[in-house]
Formats: sequence, C-alpha cells, structure tokens
Amino acid sequence: MSQETIFTKIINREIPADIIYEDEHTLAFKDINPQAPFHALIIPKKAIATINDVTPENSHLVGNLYVVAAKLAKQLNFADDGYRVVMNCNEHGGQTVYHIHLHMLAGKEMGWPPY
Ligand code: 5GP
Repeated sequence: MSQETIFTKIINREIPADIIYEDEHTLAFKDINPQAPFHALIIPKKAIATINDVTPENSHLVGNLYVVAAKLAKQLNFADDGYRVVMNCNEHGGQTVYHIHLHMLAGKEMGWPPY
C-alpha cells in the first residue's frame, strides 16, 4: 500500500521544505516541528507507507536511509557525540505521515525511555 502524502509533495517540490540532502533514492529535510536542536526526516523517494510494508525487494531503500544518516552525522559533526534515529509505525508508534521516514535527532542528550 502506498498513497500520496505531504512528503510526495515535498519530493516533487510542490510545497517548500528545508532540504539538506538529496540523491537518486533518498531525500532529507528539516522537520517542520523540531523536537531537538537538529531534527531532520530522511525518506525514500519511493513511497512506502509503513515499516510493515518493507520487504526484501525494497529493503535497500530503507538501508539507504541509515547510510544518509551516517553521512549527515559526519558532515554536521554529530557522529562522535551521538544522535538518535527513530521510525514510528502506525498509531501506537506515533506515526502521522504514511510515507516511511527516519527521524534524525541531534544536538542534545536524549532521554530513555522515549515515552
Ligand atoms: P511521524 O509522526 O509520522 O513519525 O512524523 C511525521 C513528522 O513529519 C512530524 O515530526 C512532523 O512534524 C513532520 N511534518 C509533517 N508535515 C510536515 C511538512 O509539511 N514539512 C516538514 N518539513 N515536516 C512535516
């Protein structure tokens, strides 16, 4: 299942976003409602609705999200201090946009548990 969401509009430049990384398969942009000093969303350009829709065939697109997170962490000097990446799934996970996205949060020490 994949439906068009607000993130498709961001990919297609139909609505603005603060884009910080782009390649053939992946886009990263700042979250509109940041929960940390640095809060970006890293998404596959191909819409996958939830983690439940990840398969062996599309898993490389999910792997790419982590490759980009590592690249951004090094570029932005978060790698050594550390950061958090999280992907929410469905209602109990707190997902509100049904196009998978890796939240990348950095710039402060995070708490745990996350609820
Ligand atoms: P979720 O709750 O699905 O894990 O995360 C969705 C995230 O998308 C939220 O953190 C929310 O602030 C962000 N978001 C929703 N709409 C927009 C938008 O139009 N632009 C940007 N940059 N972020 C958005």
